[in-house]
Formats: sequence, C-alpha cells, structure tokens
Amino acid sequence: MSQFWSDHVHALEPYVPGEQPKENILIKLNTNEHAYGPSPRALEAIQIETTGDLRLYPAPGSDILVRAIASTQGVVADQVFVGNSSDEVLAHIFNGLLRRGDQPLWLPDITYSFYKTYCRFYDIEPHYVALNHKFEIDPADYVRAQQEGAGGIIFANPNAPTGHCLSLESIKEILQANPEIPVVVDEAYIDFGGASAASLLEQHPNLIVTRTFSKGYALAGLRVGYALASPEMIMGLQRIKDSFNSYPLDRLAQVGAAAAIADTDYYQKVNQQVIDNREYLHKALEKLNYEVLPSKANFVFARPLDQEAKTVFLELRKQGILVRYFEQPRIDQYLRITVGTREQCEALVKALQKVTI
Ligand SMILES: *Cc1c(COP(=O)(O)O)cnc(C)c1O
Repeated sequence: MSQFWSDHVHALEPYVPGEQPKENILIKLNTNEHAYGPSPRALEAIQIETTGDLRLYPAPGSDILVRAIASTQGVVADQVFVGNSSDEVLAHIFNGLLRRGDQPLWLPDITYSFYKTYCRFYDIEPHYVALNHKFEIDPADYVRAQQEGAGGIIFANPNAPTGHCLSLESIKEILQANPEIPVVVDEAYIDFGGASAASLLEQHPNLIVTRTFSKGYALAGLRVGYALASPEMIMGLQRIKDSFNSYPLDRLAQVGAAAAIADTDYYQKVNQQVIDNREYLHKALEKLNYEVLPSKANFVFARPLDQEAKTVFLELRKQGILVRYFEQPRIDQYLRITVGTREQCEALVKALQKVTI
C-alpha cells in the first residue's frame, strides 16, 4: 500500500506464477515448461542475430515471423497478431475485444487464472460457468451466453489445469450459438495432441485462437505468443499494440520464433516424446492409486486417493521435486504435474512411492 498508488493499482489482484526456485530443486515440474530443448535451428538463428545490428530497432510488425506463422497455420498474414508472450496478446484481447461496458465475460470456474487477473485489470465482470462433474467444459453451458448478455467467452483448450480437450464439434457448437460476441480459445497446449480450432476461422468470424511458443516450442524464455483471427479483429489488436508498445518483440525473439515454427520435424519428434511420457506417467500414477484425468497437454492433473494432495506436494518438495498445488475450492485435492523427460517421470514415480509408504 502506498499513498502514491492510483486507485487502479490498489484494486489489482496480480497473477502469481508458479515458483522459479533458486536452490534445492532437482526436478522442476511446476510450470509446464517443455521437457526437451528448443529446435537447434532456433538457437542458431538467435546466435546469428546477436552478431547483427542490435543497435537498430526491430521490425515493429515482426513481418518475417508473421509470415512464417501464417504459412504454417494455413492463414493469411492479416489474420496473425504477435506479441511478447501469449499473456500479452491475451491482455490486448481483453482490453480491445472483451471489454464491452457492463457485459460480463463468460469463462469456466476452473481455468487459467490469469483471465481473472485481466478481468480485474480491465474492469470486466467475470461470469463463472462451473466445469461439469468430470471437470470438463460442457458446450451446452455456453450456448445461451450471447442471448443472456455476455460480452464474450474465453476458455483454454486443452484446459488448464485439467488437461481436458474439447472436440472441434463442441467448439463449433459454442461459436454457432454466439455469432455476435468474441469467443477466445487459448491453445497454449494444443501441440500435445489436441485438434486446433484454427480450421474453424474461415467459417466463424467471431473466433480468436491464441497460441504460445512457451509450451509446445520449448521457448518460454523467449516470450513469444500470437493470435489468429479475422483481419478486422487483428487490426483492432494492432491499434492497441501501437498505442502501447510498437516494438513488443525484440530482434532475437523474432528470428528465434520464426526458425522454430519452420522446424516442424523437430517439434513433431520431441512433442511425441512428451506425449509418450505423459501416457507412461498416467499409468504409473494410476498404479499408485491416483485418479488421473485424461490429458492432451504436457501435464497431468491427478488426485492421490490415499493421501492429502498438499502433504504429497510438501513431501515431494522436501525430496527436491517441485509440482504445482492450488489451494483453491474444487481442486485442492489435486496436483498438476508437468510431464518431464522419461528419467524425470521415473524419478517422480520413485519419490511418490516413498511418500506413499
Ligand atoms: C502458459 C500459458 C499461457 C501463457 O503463455 P506465455 O506465452 O508464456 O505467456 C497462456 N495460457 C495458458 C492456458 C497457459 O497455460
């Protein structure tokens, strides 16, 4: 608290990211970073760029990166908006597309918690829709949103922290029922086996898909995200960007992300490894008497049936393994565990066996 803060700052509830520990953690499975490293081509492109002209401002529209994204995602460049992380892209979407007077934003009660933070930041009223008893988004719960006065809809697909992925049919149902309000599908985890809604863009001008290089492209440290939408929505986001920061992506980020997205063979290989490790971890946890939700992300959401989740979280921490625990209604008996390398998954399972005894 400070007398120098504006009322706006007093009212904020900042997002609390998963811990980035300084010491004593041997295995870090708490913030869904990729188990394997980024494409060597991305690293090479960044290295070459460091010998380039960092004295000069970068391209304000990140044109080369935008074209690389457009060509791999099957859209035109006018349908792509890039930003310094998908969190920043989401912030501009909240500000520019979802802030509609006193019309509430519809979103799941259990989802990425940054949405709540942005509602507060941009003075948008959240309207929470409960996940069903299987912890899934039920499209039937969203078909009356527009009719009931919603200003927009947002959810993550696959959802976080549950890992559940909606089918394209279900997303289509939500889009069709709400043609006049923006529907944002946050695809941060789409590279681990889910089907992308990008194929629905042509038929549904109310759809916005957001993506990040942090998860499926193993570049969380580079901070690059993007949105795919109709040219008119993209133009709206560009107006926000150019009223806020004209150069959100530095030169290293632009070339690194462009090289990464072009290296499809590499990412297919490492993301398949993550998927295989996820299936291994899922089965191993079930053997340890955990309830494990089916996941299409690079994490699993699991509930120990014989112990308190918080106890397991603290015991693992003592053993140098960090997972994510949310002290929050409905999910305080679950752990969200990032899928690591096979060796990390095996070490985790061993540590859990010790906790269980
Ligand atoms: C990690 C994550 C993001 C943020 O990604 P950044 O590009 O690193 O900001 C957005 N949405 C969801 C659901 C995420 O899990």
